[in-house]
Parts: sequence; C-alpha cells; structure tokens
Amino acid sequence: MSDSSATGQQSKPAAKPRKFQAIKGVRDLLPAETPLWNHVEETAHAVFGTFGFSEIRLPILEPTELFARSIGLDTDVVSKEMYTFEDRDESMISLRPEATASVCRAYIEHHMQQLPQPVKLYYMGPMFRRERPQKGRYRQFHQIGAEVLGGNDSPGIDAEVIEMVMTFFDELELQGLELDINSIGCRECRAKYVEVLRSELQKVKDKLGADSQRRIDTNPLRVLDSKLPGEQEIIARLPHMAAHLCADCAEHFAEVKRQLELRGVIYRENWRLVRGLDYYMRTTFEITAQGLGSQNAVCGGGRYDGLVELLGGPPTKGIGFAIGEDRLILSLQESSKAPPPPGRDIYIAWMGDKAFATAIRAAKDLRGAGYRVELPATEQKFGKALSQADKLGSRYALILGDDEVSSGEWTLKTLADGSQKKYSESELLEYLRETSPAAQQRT
Ligand code: AMP
Repeated sequence: MSDSSATGQQSKPAAKPRKFQAIKGVRDLLPAETPLWNHVEETAHAVFGTFGFSEIRLPILEPTELFARSIGLDTDVVSKEMYTFEDRDESMISLRPEATASVCRAYIEHHMQQLPQPVKLYYMGPMFRRERPQKGRYRQFHQIGAEVLGGNDSPGIDAEVIEMVMTFFDELELQGLELDINSIGCRECRAKYVEVLRSELQKVKDKLGADSQRRIDTNPLRVLDSKLPGEQEIIARLPHMAAHLCADCAEHFAEVKRQLELRGVIYRENWRLVRGLDYYMRTTFEITAQGLGSQNAVCGGGRYDGLVELLGGPPTKGIGFAIGEDRLILSLQESSKAPPPPGRDIYIAWMGDKAFATAIRAAKDLRGAGYRVELPATEQKFGKALSQADKLGSRYALILGDDEVSSGEWTLKTLADGSQKKYSESELLEYLRETSPAAQQRT
C-alpha cells in the first residue's frame, strides 16, 4: 500500500512525460535514407582510394584555439557559430566546425612530414556550426573532405584534387554540376589587391549595405561574395584579382587551368569566388549542383600553403576540399538518382513448431548466402504473413507449414507475380544460392 493511500491523501496524477524532439538544426537520418548515405560514403572510399588517398578519422572535439588560429577570429564561423565549452581542466574546447584544421593538427602531431610527401588524406563525419537552419543548412551537418599536405605546390596537385572530386560526383551521377575556379593569389599579391579593392570600395561605400560596409575594413574580399541584388552592379565594376596576380601566381593559375583541360574537367572561371575562411591562397574552387535552391554549393576547396606553419608545424604546402554530404544527398534525392532502399529478399512464412525449427535452419543458410531474410519470431496466419512480406518489399515468400516439412517439398512464392513453385530443401537452397547476391558478386 502506498503512503498516500495509508494517510488517505489523493496522489496527484503523474505529469505527462515531456515529448523530446531533436534540437533545432539537427536531424535523424532514418532507415529510408541511410542506404543512400552508405552508398555515397562507399563510393567516396572507392574513388578516393583509386587516387591514392587514405582515410583519417579525427576527433569531433578539438581545442577552441585550433580553430581560432586557423579559421580566424574575425570569421563568422569562429566568432558566432562554434559550440564551445569549458573542459574539466578549464581549457576551452569546441565541436569541430570543419576538419581541415584537425587534419593539419594530426599531420604535425604524428610527424607526417617524415612520410613520403605529399600525404594524401580524406575524412568524413559530422561538423557543427550554430547557423540559422534552412533547407540544405543545418547545425549538425556532414562533410566528406580530402587534403594533400607536404611536397610541392605543383599545379598538377590542384588539378588532380579537382579531378578527383568531379570523378566522385560523376560516379554518383550528381546532376547539373558546375565547377567554378579562381586564384586569390599569394600573401603578397593578394595583400596588394586587397588594398586596391579597399580603396575602390571606399569610393562607393554609401551605395553598399551594412554588411559590405563593415567588410571594407575587416575583409574586403568577402564583399565579392555578396548576393544582395542592389550591390551586384557595383561589384561588377570592381577590379579583378587576375589583373593583380604576381607572375608566379599567374603562371600557377594558367597551369592549373591547362591541366584541368588535359584531364577533361570542364570549369568556369569566376573572379568573384573567394573562400569564406581566411587561410586559403591561390587556387580556390566551388562546385554547385541542381535541386538545392539558394544553398546549392556542394563542395568548396582551395590551396592553403601557410596553414600547417600557422599551427606550429614546418612550412608545408596544402590543398583540399570539403563536400557538404547533406546537400549532395538532397541533390541526388531531388534528381531521383537515389537508389530505392532495399527490401527483404525472402520472407519466411512458417506455421507450426516443426516448421519453425526448419525455418531457423533455412534462415541461417540463406543469410550465409547473402540474402536479406526476415524470419518472424512468432507464428502468423499465412494471409497475414504474405501481406507483411509484401509491406516489407520482399521478393520471395518461403512457405513452410507442417505439410511442407513432412513432405520435404518447400514452396517458394514470387511476390511480384504471385507464381509459386515447389522445391526440395536441397533444390531450393541450391536455386537461391545460385541467384544469391554473393553468387552474383562472384560472377
Ligand atoms: P565550408 O567548410 O564552409 O567551406 O563548406 C564546405 C561545404 O560544406 C559547403 O559547400 C556546403 O556544401 C557544406 N556546408 C557548410 N556549412 C553547412 C551547413 N551549415 N549545413 C549543410 N552543409 C554545409
């Protein structure tokens, strides 16, 4: 007896438990979608492997300072968007907003400069930025990226990295791809260009919006990024970086373009393409795909020769890219290039204890042959079993009742056309094995 009834008091009705929902900008990837995610990731492993890249798995938590130093304190990512908190030792740590800095940290930490250069690495996983969520923009999103660190800054490396990402997209049959490239020069020639740009922007300052006005001082290159309709005509008249590249940077850019042509990669030169993060130099590129509305960039990348040094390592060349996997998947879904989620191959419709023992044995055998098998844990009427098999998208129903078990003649029903055929156990397993996914892979 409870205390309340012992004292004659009425117990309050229990409060309705809170219904939880995923937090804003963060999503569950449900079983209808995960086969496509796996397909994309498996394709990345396969394609990047053929270009000699190896996978690196990086921590999600890093010292806040790593991003402050690499991405830059005055960027939106670091100043407003990172999830940062205090660790037990009072140091500040952050959920990674991107992974290039982590790859460079790992390169330095594990003395990868002692390996044959360049070191070619790729990664995939979730990133975190406290952005305003919308279609194609999330607070937890996923990137697949690659970095080439060390060695020289040959334009052949830039061209190969771009060729690799385009090969990956082609393999996935991503539609409406457009590759934009640009060179933003080296520290020296860019600094001079930025000054020219700043003084030109000063002249038209009153015609610009508040964001661009602020950027004249903080980061004039970012004004070129502006999508504000009222600013477009003004921006179109600004001086181009190409005219201010030093001789080495101009030659580098010309050779990247020549090599892209050699590799059959179609590109568009876009003088307004600058990368959001401060550490980029020379080659920058962005790839857009169809079906994504305003958030149509699926990949951004570029060269960042000074970054490893900035993080305390030896002077090291670097180039890489990051693909927005969520957007890539959205684009594949919009253009129906997504494979349908796989159903079951065989649903075992069994009835009776004797049949259950046989069904367990058959399931084990068929799973061993690579089939997706559904073995219901409790007995069902055949009608119910067949309708369940249908709902699960099964190809066959294997019917095992006491009759089938005692006669040794098993019934295999093809659900698409309702036809059925009897087989002995050995014949049936042989027939299915011959047509099994594992057998098909072997031929
Ligand atoms: P970034 O690291 O900012 O250069 O971004 C590289 C790519 O990651 C972009 O082209 C997008 O495809 C993707 N991306 C960046 N931020 C987000 C986000 N908040 N949600 C989804 N995808 C994103």
